[in-house]
Amino acid sequence: MSNSGRHFLQVPGPTNIPDRVLKAIHAPGVDHRGPHFLPFAIKLLEDVKTLFKTKETVAIWPSSGTGAWEAALVNTLSPGDKVLMFDAGMFSNLWVKMGKMLQLDVQVVENDWRRGADPAVVEEKLTQDKNHAIKAVCIVHNETSNGVLARLADIRKAMDAAKHPALLLVDSISGLGCTDYQHDQWGVDVTICGSQKGMMLPTGLGFNAISKKAREAYKSSKMPRSYWDWEWMTGAYDKGIFPYTPAASLMNGLRASIDMMHEEGLENIFARHNRFATATRKAVEAWGLEVVCQDEREFSPSVSAIYLPEGHSADAFRRVAFERFNISLGAGLGKFADRVFRIGHMGDLNEAMLTGALSSVEMGLRAAGVPHTSGGVDAAIAHLSQAN
Ligand code: PLP
Repeated sequence: MSNSGRHFLQVPGPTNIPDRVLKAIHAPGVDHRGPHFLPFAIKLLEDVKTLFKTKETVAIWPSSGTGAWEAALVNTLSPGDKVLMFDAGMFSNLWVKMGKMLQLDVQVVENDWRRGADPAVVEEKLTQDKNHAIKAVCIVHNETSNGVLARLADIRKAMDAAKHPALLLVDSISGLGCTDYQHDQWGVDVTICGSQKGMMLPTGLGFNAISKKAREAYKSSKMPRSYWDWEWMTGAYDKGIFPYTPAASLMNGLRASIDMMHEEGLENIFARHNRFATATRKAVEAWGLEVVCQDEREFSPSVSAIYLPEGHSADAFRRVAFERFNISLGAGLGKFADRVFRIGHMGDLNEAMLTGALSSVEMGLRAAGVPHTSGGVDAAIAHLSQAN
């Protein structure tokens, strides 16, 4: 492999970290109870709310996204509580596993991994639950393993139509910052996020946006917790104080990424992601390959999962692409292992980077002897060169 030029990181998280964010992180340590940090933290805790479109508190832990999943469950529920979860992909599946490990009574809806959680099924399950035994509905907004975006606003409507009081807990780890997300407007009770996707940061910050209803549920929740306890974590946020050492350098990076996102404008960012996702799917179609997602209402704006033709190893193809063309592509996960590869098109990306990545994919298909039609890059270029 030639090491010249930049490595193309096209996995669906961690994503490319902009130079401005890298520079912000590259800072000396700071006294997190001192006069520099406190006003910085107060403003950051306020401004991060804009990414979630919420006025409520957003808790930030030094953690990966998995920690933020756990925080959402242990602060709102009690052992043995019924929760409704969909097995709609690898991450939904892992969240189910966590729920079971935490001794929740997980009602798993078996879901086609090529589609998102169905709002009609949510309505049906909640309507059947006359005694309101189900305490929470847990939804992965953007399934990173299969490139499927759940119809969250419709799921909220379905819960309202069923007149059911369950909490709505949402993992938007790979959706937030890439596609519209409205914590308050959609009546989400806990939004879970991680720093290494749309926020363009390294892994290491986990987030919970917390509704008033979730705060109420916290009061009666009996799940054992300490590190993840909301009250402990957020009790002195108004003074900029964290209960234990915050990841200050990542928070410097978050400051820079929020500023960049405000400068570009959230709506422009979402439109850019849609444009790049469409261009990627046009390339896939021209290659004669197939994306996993089967419902065009659910195409993910941040990641595309793509089948290789039967009998061809997706991992062997990814290895050729890596070794020959210095590009990292996402692996197929779970049921899709070795059948699917994924192109992340989220975060800090422009047209030249995307077409460069798609060119490397096309070269990789050729070099690995994967049957396809050439012209995918051309199809993407045709889409991207149209006026925005
Ligand atoms: N949920 C989704 C949708 C993800 O994409 C990921 C990671 O890729 C996770 C949860 C787990 O997050 P982490 O790996 O940061 O713990």
